[in-house]
Amino acid sequence: MQYKRILLKLSGEALMGEKQYGIDPKRLAEYAAEIKEVVEKGMQVAVVIGGGNIFRGLAGASNGMDRVQGDHMGMLATVINGLALQSALEIAGVETRLQSAIKINEVAEPFIRRRAMRHLEKGRVVIFGGGTGNPYFTTDSAAVLRAIEIEADVILKGTRVDGIYTSDPEKNKDATKFDTISFNDVLSKGLKVMDTTAFTLSQENELPIIVFDMNKKGNLLRVLDGENVGTKVNL
Ligand code: UDP
Repeated sequence: MQYKRILLKLSGEALMGEKQYGIDPKRLAEYAAEIKEVVEKGMQVAVVIGGGNIFRGLAGASNGMDRVQGDHMGMLATVINGLALQSALEIAGVETRLQSAIKINEVAEPFIRRRAMRHLEKGRVVIFGGGTGNPYFTTDSAAVLRAIEIEADVILKGTRVDGIYTSDPEKNKDATKFDTISFNDVLSKGLKVMDTTAFTLSQENELPIIVFDMNKKGNLLRVLDGENVGTKVNL
């Protein structure tokens, strides 16, 4: 295996499965099974989970809500998703810890970097909830930040599409997929991988990103086995 410690970013929307809102237990169990396989290979796995299946601060603000208030709701949504994933992983027999960027001590540990790293060394999956703990950020930024802090080797961004394309493959059938691409090319071609804050943080810290389709069974392990799945963004 190429990587020792990985950070997996899952969007909140991915947890909806076929539903329009909330959490699909079947999808959650599938993700837990995929993660379990990776842990059993001896890799250390941290997860950052989004909250878009429940609430997004920006959506609240567009309906007249105070943006910061909405972002607080979004951060809480990520904690809800983190709890759901934690439960699914533990049912699958994987030891986990949930760490939150906002203090919610009865429910999750606070984020403590050294403790998170110790959990990972012991083979526990560490789920980071609460995003960065600050409004106006996204969970993609949280994913990059945590990955750098815990010295992960790579970020795996599980999405609905199987990589980065020349243009949106859902809109343009002639779009072709990149196997690898540089950070600079993503920026100069105006391609969308993560929001700019998250993306440049990753670039500045030389943290590679792999975008892949998390909904295809076995894909997570395939990516980590070095198979040509998804797109890798490198320096
Ligand atoms: N959020 C935030 N600060 C963060 C991370 C998230 O305020 O550091 C809020 C923000 O309102 C965001 C919501 O939480 O819309 C859910 O996160 P995100 O949209 O990144 O989730 P995803 O798109 O991955 O499901």
